[in-house]
Amino acid sequence: ATPLSIMVGTGKGARAGILIRSAEALETAHKLDTVVLDKTGTITAGSPRLTDLHPAGQLGESDLLRLVAATEADSEHPVAAAIVAAARERGLEWESATRFDSISGEGVRATVAGHTVLVGTHRLLIDSGVDTAPLEPVSHRLSKEGKTAILSAVDDRPVGVLGVADTVKPESPDAVSALHHLGLDVVMITGDNAHTAETVAQQVGVHRVLAEVLPRHKAGEIRRLQVEGRRVGMVGDGINDAPALAQADVGLAIGTGTDVAIEAADITLISGSLSGVVTAIRLSRATMRNIR
Ligand code: ADP
Ligand code: MG
Repeated sequence: ATPLSIMVGTGKGARAGILIRSAEALETAHKLDTVVLDKTGTITAGSPRLTDLHPAGQLGESDLLRLVAATEADSEHPVAAAIVAAARERGLEWESATRFDSISGEGVRATVAGHTVLVGTHRLLIDSGVDTAPLEPVSHRLSKEGKTAILSAVDDRPVGVLGVADTVKPESPDAVSALHHLGLDVVMITGDNAHTAETVAQQVGVHRVLAEVLPRHKAGEIRRLQVEGRRVGMVGDGINDAPALAQADVGLAIGTGTDVAIEAADITLISGSLSGVVTAIRLSRATMRNIR
């Protein structure tokens, strides 16, 4: 493209709330055939709420919530924020954990009142040797509802399941349908459970889902699609998404997301709405048409 058409395209983008970092990004966006969308914070609002509380064994609901809140108190994950907020709303108090480990994309482990508490995914508990069988029925039901099931164990014994739900951003279904109309394949990627991811995918009209992808594997999934010969745009908001944004042919960051994601991306969608992806691709196509 000529410098002038790039300048015009970049200016139009800026007025539409789309910050395009380089001429190359504007030029490459028209060649994309696949768009990978992160789930949490990109398709969904990214501020989950606690919806369900299911103790197993002797614990009461408040005991379970207090224990899990104590375990999550030092975590920066949105799931942790939802749990701690719910515990505070109920007026619960807890003693601080004496040891805390965050396991990226899986959960947390902490020592609370001398006990080792695990909070997170099914895989996290299984890998630690916890028998999750008593938690399965509830966990399965929650994920079918599109909620994230958060499992918990104390000293390797299962103690309960919490349900956390996030809402789809209102513009997401229309944006996905517009991307399909532009002829693009749309793929959802997430660290969340496969059933939960499928339910959210159905709500927004996405047909292909990559679920239970650990943060360190997200960029590899993008690479894999590129090896298939695809030109891939990746849209994400989190620290976890940064390597995948950098790996993609065009990385698009949600402007309301983390600085790390914005720095790794070629394009920033200031409003945070997925409709910005559609606008960016249309703009690139129009720019490249004008110069041919
Ligand atoms: P996403 O791809 O949706 O942003 P992450 O990779 O951050 O998700 O996390 C994947 C899954 O790991 C979450 O859906 C959740 O089940 C679990 N998880 C991660 N961090 C925590 C935490 N602090 N507490 C409980 N569960 C967690
Ligand atoms: Mg996210």
